[in-house]
Amino acid sequence: MATATPRMKITYATLSADNEELQTAFDEAVGAVRGELGRSYPMIIGDEERTGRQTFEDRSPIDTRIVVSRFPIGTRQDVRDAVAAARRAFPAWRALGWQARLALLRRAADLISERQFRYAALMSFEVGKNRLEALGDVEETADLIRYYGSEMERNDGFVRPMGSLSPDEHTRSVLKPHGVWAVISPFNFPMALSGGPAAGALIAGNTVIMKPSSDAPLLAYEFVRVLREVGVPAGVVNLVTGPGESVGAELEENPDIDGMVFTGSYEVGMRLQRSFTRDYPRPIITEMGGKNPAIVTAKADLDEAAEGVMRAAFGYDGQKCSANSRVYVERAVADAFVDKLVERTRAIRVGDPTQRESWMGPVINERAINTFRAAVDEARRDGAEIRAGGAVLTDAGLERGYFPTPTIITGLPTDHRLFRDELFVPLLVIGEVGSVDEALRLANETPYGLTAGIYSHDRGEIRQFLDTIEAGVVYVNRRAGATTGAWPGIQSFGGWKGSGSSGKNGLGPYYVQQFLREQSQTVVGEEPPA
Ligand code: NAD
Repeated sequence: MATATPRMKITYATLSADNEELQTAFDEAVGAVRGELGRSYPMIIGDEERTGRQTFEDRSPIDTRIVVSRFPIGTRQDVRDAVAAARRAFPAWRALGWQARLALLRRAADLISERQFRYAALMSFEVGKNRLEALGDVEETADLIRYYGSEMERNDGFVRPMGSLSPDEHTRSVLKPHGVWAVISPFNFPMALSGGPAAGALIAGNTVIMKPSSDAPLLAYEFVRVLREVGVPAGVVNLVTGPGESVGAELEENPDIDGMVFTGSYEVGMRLQRSFTRDYPRPIITEMGGKNPAIVTAKADLDEAAEGVMRAAFGYDGQKCSANSRVYVERAVADAFVDKLVERTRAIRVGDPTQRESWMGPVINERAINTFRAAVDEARRDGAEIRAGGAVLTDAGLERGYFPTPTIITGLPTDHRLFRDELFVPLLVIGEVGSVDEALRLANETPYGLTAGIYSHDRGEIRQFLDTIEAGVVYVNRRAGATTGAWPGIQSFGGWKGSGSSGKNGLGPYYVQQFLREQSQTVVGEEPPA
């Protein structure tokens, strides 16, 4: 396979893919990985590749006849064995020192970048991402490793000299790893949200047990393979697969796990938040859902707003945690804004995401398509106007996948359920407001607080938005995405309120510290050893 990697860096904000070299490399990768689909993969527990007695099929949402991979249905015993392997590997991994750990992980990051096209092609089949989104996810994984590594370095391994109250006392603050961390990941960023949090934990010196979504285990598996390939020792990174009820439940209850990082829905995250700390305090980072608002004021550039909202509402079918799912627009510009948005939305090409012309692909599974259908029916029943979309495509070639059309809904009261619940499908509700104050109040009136955006060229309105919006990631006048498109080391990413527990975002400068605990060391008489 020709892997002439184009020089251009592909991020979620990459606006167009009119780079022929990139397109060809992706097409070739799709052809190459097609022959690999349907294989059986093991769990990775210590140095063992463990196959289970029973397996589950990871089928493509593009065409459910395509089995992308088969993985074992793990048991509680498999998880216990993975915990034991991670526990055994911890002392040596910690003792290796952060510089040596970083050297290994940086090699892994480079390999991931080198294989960007192969992994992205697999991801397109696995979760239905279009090529730019899939390429972005892979490169984000590599950049997460690089960024977290650079933070470890910038902070000199988090050893900091402190003051002294007496001349013969030497005191320092040292951040140390906890031990064994569980990393539970969602389907929608199969590599970045399994590899990224795992990298944070590993760079800090912990060992990990990864549990990916059953809709997307393959890219987490590939991530673990890369780490093993560059020489990360057995047991430092383990992979268990299977349902939340057995594998997830054991991770939740096993007392030998020191910390947990979860990314996924509010319902599962809150359950883990409560149960993981039931008997004693253990760190748990939960990154959860969003109902992310965009505000369009009368002072907005409406072309900018329509473009940014379209990209954020319908990029990856509204299945990003940062997806824009509600808009509050000032009445004076509402018609003009909606017309522009509808025009752009109707131009979206929905189809097989491995094809270059498709901008939107399928949603992840039948449950998602049912959620979409039910929401459209509910909107119709409640008197809404469906301004675009509202249908599920069953054209030839798409009839065995899950292909909703990008949907814009107006005319619902702003206290309607569709303004409140995260649906995770390409469905946007638009409400008219009388003022920016009202828009901000409605934007904040939600248990969630992940991302938010505003379109306005009035400095006072922008300041008011930045001062009062309750969200962990906010954007102003962003054409590349009203609420989406964060990148490591640039936009840190995390939620407030019901969207996240830590108040310290992933992709940012305070992330790695969360996998560490502080020890104050005072040594009398001589400098403490390095
Ligand atoms: P999900 O909550 O259904 O699943 C997430 C993970 O939790 C999966 O691996 C699943 O198998 C596991 N799980 C389920 N039940 C469990 C249990 N009882 N114990 C332990 N683990 C269990 O989420 P999903 O559908 O895969 O992903 C979509 C959701 O994730 C959306 O709500 C989205 O907003 C959110 N998300 C948030 C962020 C963020 O950074 N805040 C990022 C991506 C996705």
